[in-house]
Amino acid sequence: MAPPTTGTGRHFLQIPGPTNVPDRVLRAMDFPTMDHRGPQFSEVGSKSLEGMRSIFKTKGQVVIYPASGTGAWEAAMVNTLSPGDRVLMYETGHFATLWKKLAENLGLKPEFIEGDWRHGADPQAIEDHLRKDTGGEIKAVCVVHNETSTGCVTQIPEIRAAIDSAGHGALLLVDTISSLASLDYRHDEWGVDVTVSGSQKGLMLPPGLSFNAISEKAVKASKSAGLTKAYWSWEEMKGPNETGYFPYTPATNLLYGLVEAVEMLHEEGLDNVFARHQRHGEAARAAVKGWGLEVLCAEPRHYSGVLTAVMMPSGVSADNFRKVALENFNISFGNGLSKIADKVFRIGHLGDFNDLMLMGTLCGVEMGLEKAGVPHQSGGAQAAMDYLAGRAGTAATRAA
Ligand code: PLP
Repeated sequence: MAPPTTGTGRHFLQIPGPTNVPDRVLRAMDFPTMDHRGPQFSEVGSKSLEGMRSIFKTKGQVVIYPASGTGAWEAAMVNTLSPGDRVLMYETGHFATLWKKLAENLGLKPEFIEGDWRHGADPQAIEDHLRKDTGGEIKAVCVVHNETSTGCVTQIPEIRAAIDSAGHGALLLVDTISSLASLDYRHDEWGVDVTVSGSQKGLMLPPGLSFNAISEKAVKASKSAGLTKAYWSWEEMKGPNETGYFPYTPATNLLYGLVEAVEMLHEEGLDNVFARHQRHGEAARAAVKGWGLEVLCAEPRHYSGVLTAVMMPSGVSADNFRKVALENFNISFGNGLSKIADKVFRIGHLGDFNDLMLMGTLCGVEMGLEKAGVPHQSGGAQAAMDYLAGRAGTAATRAA
């Protein structure tokens, strides 16, 4: 038999971010570094800020940090909250848990609603919790839109409605690090106070930029917020940003890439981008069903178009499967994180992606399952192909 083709062709990077950077974006960044205080820079700076307003769907202030997403989590909190403030957070998975730890480290008092890592946040539980806080001591509700560790989506309008129906004045802080520019999102219309995001997922850029989109109410809260801040201060950004500059050295070349990426997203049309992600999510789930395996997300209303986390049969190592797939087929899948380490693997289907890339990915899963000796049915990739070709049901029926 011919040896595996692991050293030729392109690596399949199918983790749920960082994602594949399109050639157009790579070329836009491949440019001599510009003087970030010179006259040309203000155009790049202004276009980046304006472009991000269009992606967040906000008319309000947007801040861009040269930082990973974690920095933007911290920025959202230090600009709006004070030491000892109670914040309501929801355990959707690994990233919600990390954000809660960060809140504790900042001196906040998170109240963490427990979750089973198979659902998005439950609006009723949030409403019930807020109703008990008659003194209005909870200052913020923080949720992760797309929980990247599980592939479960929290419906943000439902969380807004829960806060409103409890008649509570808490700010709403939302992490869209793995959903922005992949799933429908509307900062202003949905009444979000601070949206947190990052460059390395739906925005199709390398890691290194992160963002806050800020409501008027959040700006007002920032005037009296008592947590210590320096680097993350929104106020410091505001003046220079008005003319397209930054108070410190921005990630110049990433901003060239950002302007190009935003242009690409608008060329495709945001609604088409969202529909593409939903369709690929459906196809991936058809494949999982065809293999006779289970999707981690247990609630169809919370299914994600960004990634699909697949549960391994009991006692079978997900990490060994990923290792075998990488060694034999040059493909990377996301690992299971913390509580679900070695029990799930994650298929990223976000960013610069198309039907054939998805099929290559799903064939990689099926071949990897076979090679690693994971008990499964064959035919999952065929089920996805049938779905993409508009013949939904045929292979799934065959596989059943
Ligand atoms: N929140 C979510 C939902 C994420 O997916 C990630 C990273 O994958 C983070 C936060 C942390 O972002 P970063 O690793 O860029 O600091």
